[in-house]
Parts: sequence; C-alpha cells; structure tokens
Amino acid sequence: MPNWTLNEIAQAVGGKVFNSEKTDQVTGVSFDTRTLTEGDLFIPLTADRNGHDFIQSAMDKGASATLWSDPIEHAPKEIAVIQVEDTLKAFQSFAKDYLNEVSPKVVGITGSNGKTTTKDMVAAVASAKYKTHKTSGNFNNHLGLPLTILDMDRDTEVIVLEMGMSEKGEIHVLSEIAEPDIAVITMIGESHIEFLGSREAISEAKLEIVEGMKQGTLIYPGEEPLLETRIADGWVDEKVKTVKTFGKQTGVDLYSTEIETEMKQTRFKTNQEPDVACTLPIPGEYNVQNALAAILVGETLGIEREAIYEQLSNFQLTKNRLEWQDGVNGSVLLNDAYNASPSSVRAVLRYFKGIDVPGRKIVVLGDILELGDQADTMHRELHEAIDPDSIDELVLYGEFMKALYEKMSGKMEKSKLHHFAGDKDKVVAYLKDTLQPEDTVLFKSSFSTGMLEVVSKLSQDE
Ligand code: ATP
Ligand code: MG
Repeated sequence: MPNWTLNEIAQAVGGKVFNSEKTDQVTGVSFDTRTLTEGDLFIPLTADRNGHDFIQSAMDKGASATLWSDPIEHAPKEIAVIQVEDTLKAFQSFAKDYLNEVSPKVVGITGSNGKTTTKDMVAAVASAKYKTHKTSGNFNNHLGLPLTILDMDRDTEVIVLEMGMSEKGEIHVLSEIAEPDIAVITMIGESHIEFLGSREAISEAKLEIVEGMKQGTLIYPGEEPLLETRIADGWVDEKVKTVKTFGKQTGVDLYSTEIETEMKQTRFKTNQEPDVACTLPIPGEYNVQNALAAILVGETLGIEREAIYEQLSNFQLTKNRLEWQDGVNGSVLLNDAYNASPSSVRAVLRYFKGIDVPGRKIVVLGDILELGDQADTMHRELHEAIDPDSIDELVLYGEFMKALYEKMSGKMEKSKLHHFAGDKDKVVAYLKDTLQPEDTVLFKSSFSTGMLEVVSKLSQDE
C-alpha cells in the first residue's frame, strides 16, 4: 500500500483534521481491527455495529489516524482524526480520488458467474504489457472495491476490479467509484434472484456497470437476448462508445470453435484466428467464454494476440475454483463448492459429463442459497441437467435438494441416489465408506452450506 498525508485524505473526503501534530501520514487503510496493521488509517464503519466502538482496539494495533463521524468530543486524543459526515462515503471518495490521481486504465467485471475467473484472466493478459493490479480473492463489494483501489501502487497502469452484487443499485455505486474504461459482463444467470425477482431485473442490474463510464468499451455475451435487446434499444449509448460481443457462434464478434476439454485443461480456437489454439490451464467449457471476454479486453488494451494466448495459457486462478485434490481411499476430488447458482451447477455438470475419468463418477450437490421462493422449482429443474447414465452416484445435501431428490427418484436407481440433511458429517461418513480408488467426485454447492468442510475432511491435500 502507498502512503498518504492526512491533508491529502482530508481534501479527498472533504473532512477536517484534528490532532494533526500526532502524525502527518498513514501507510495503509483498514476498517477491521482484526487485520489492521501499524500505521493504518482506521475507518470505523457503522452498518452492522458501530465501528467507532473499536477505536481503542485500533489504537492498540497501531493505527496512526482515524476517520470519525460520531460526535467529535468522543474522538481519541492520542491519534490524528479526520472528521467526516459518513465514514463509508468518505472511504469511497478517498478511493475514487486516489484512482483519479493514479489514473490507470480501469477494467470493471461483473456478471452472475465467472467474475473472479475472468478477473484473473484479464489481469494475466494485461500484465503482458502493463503494470497491473487486481482485486484480490473475491473482494468485490462496496468495501472490497475501494480497498482494492487503495491497495494499488502509484505506478499502476491497469487495474482490474471485480464488481459483485446481490441487489439493484450496488453495481451503480461501484461503477461511479471506478468509472471503468472497459466494462465486462460475463453472463446473466440466476444468482441472487431472491433479491432481484427475475432474470430481466438481473440483467438490468448488471448493466448498471456502464453508469459510471465515460465513452468506454462494453464487452458482453452477445447471445444473451436480455442484454442484446436492451443494448439495441440504446440503453448504454450515452456512456459507451464501443461494444464488443463474445459467444458460441456466428453473430458475435468473437466466438469459440473446436473446444477440446480435458481433465485439467481446455483448448479452443476462435473465428478470428481459426488456426491457432488457445490453451487454458483449467477445466470447464464455460471458462472458454470467460477467456473470450479476456481476449477482447486484451485487444482493447492493445495487446498482441500471441501475448494474450501466452498469458492465458499459464494464468493463476484464485483458489477454490474447480480445484483438483487427492481424496481418501485413492479417490480424486473436484472441488467447486465455493459457490453455486443454477446456471453454474448446470455448467459444471455439463463439464463433468464430458471428461474421461478412469473410474466411477460421483456427484455431490449441496443446496443453492438465495433463490427465494423460486428455490424449490429451481432445485427441481436441475434434473434436466443430470444424465443418470453418465454418473455412478448422486449425493444430495440440504433441505432444498430434497426437491431434486424426489424428482431424480423417478429417473435413477435408488441405490445410486442419496439425500442427506442436517449434519454434514453424515455426508463425510457416507463418502468415506463408499469411495474407492479411481473414483472422481465432483462437489458443487453454495458456500454457506459448509460443503467446503466436507471436501476438506475427505481431502488428503494440505
Ligand atoms: P462470486 O459471485 O462468488 O464472486 P464469480 O462470479 O466470481 O462468483 P467465479 O468464482 O469465477 O464466479 O466462478 C464460480 C463458479 O461459477 C465456477 O466454479 C463455475 O462453476 C461457474 N462459472 C464460471 N464461469 C462461468 C460461466 N461463464 N458460465 C457459467 N458458469 C460459470
Ligand atoms: Mg467472485
């Protein structure tokens, strides 16, 4: 993280400095005293709990200064204080001001699935030519995005920002802070439909990514009618100068041809360069779409195709995304239990069906959360994506998965189908008992079901 003077920050946030004799600069920013390090500016947020109550702990950890929106008479005397009206808004304005000062090219990435993957791909591509900074992990919300910006070095040339959302209006805020030069929508699925109501509403919420743009480039899946009709109707005209589309067949600017999927990698060609294959070091046919988006970003940044392919061939994916691990009893685990939505479950099932493995194929699916009153229907409908002949066992876990279990009972031999709810250890115990050498087990689930713990109890990896 870079250094800032208190005056610089006060100016950026329109705040007033107190106790300025205590320090004149900070070396970092933190809103969580558990991760605060010496020299940081503490940002007491007030959403769930009043962060001002943690000021003593922030000072104990070595905070050099703090923002402050509580009554000023309660502010600490021991460290410098910048008085502001609203600490969250001040934090976001600080990030925006710093971004303007450094002024890298900004790439914003949103979409229902594939944001982190595409972010990692785009950052790898951009770093072929530019000093690049990206969102670490999944820090994609109204706090993670400003923090990512403030974590960037002053000589950064490209910043790649993941933009996540669960409600309308959230991407608008992120786009206004980041003002992307290039915006990517990876795909429209059903994640967070509980809060948004419909896929139409989801696509409109994703399109908020253009709202902070100033005549930039929008890259999106051209075969998604919900986006295509809105963009054709002029929704983005004021903010976007160029649109580029990707997809699966003719009709878009860049589409994939000749996809070959293997256990640990994926190869494809495109209409624009029909003779040269691009190799991705990760499985999953859907990742070809993410890569097409990354190629279009690279092209927009003026990077040669050869360098783009080279970078994609060895990019590093953020952990917990479709990860291979050695499992108990000589089995192999395919861990994709970091998150799930109906579309990502279907995508990974399609991939799993397509790969060749030495032994049995077992699928373990946990509940998909945040689907609201569509949860039962959406779980039940997953049966269309499951080909009983291509898998040897289906293990379902959670209350919502009961709907799928009932549907599958009519299609699959009883002995191959299992449903558990409540204690996760029942799933662990069952699999420990069942797994044999050469079994390949796919795990897919929403994060909060705790399926990652099941995976780690069955894993032989560190
Ligand atoms: P989050 O909302 O947690 O930030 P994300 O949008 O960042 O998720 P990733 O972490 O990149 O998404 O991928 C999560 C999962 O979504 C993958 O493991 C895969 O199952 C699925 N997925 C990724 N890309 C696509 C895509 N283009 N189409 C459909 N499913 C996808
Ligand atoms: Mg993500």
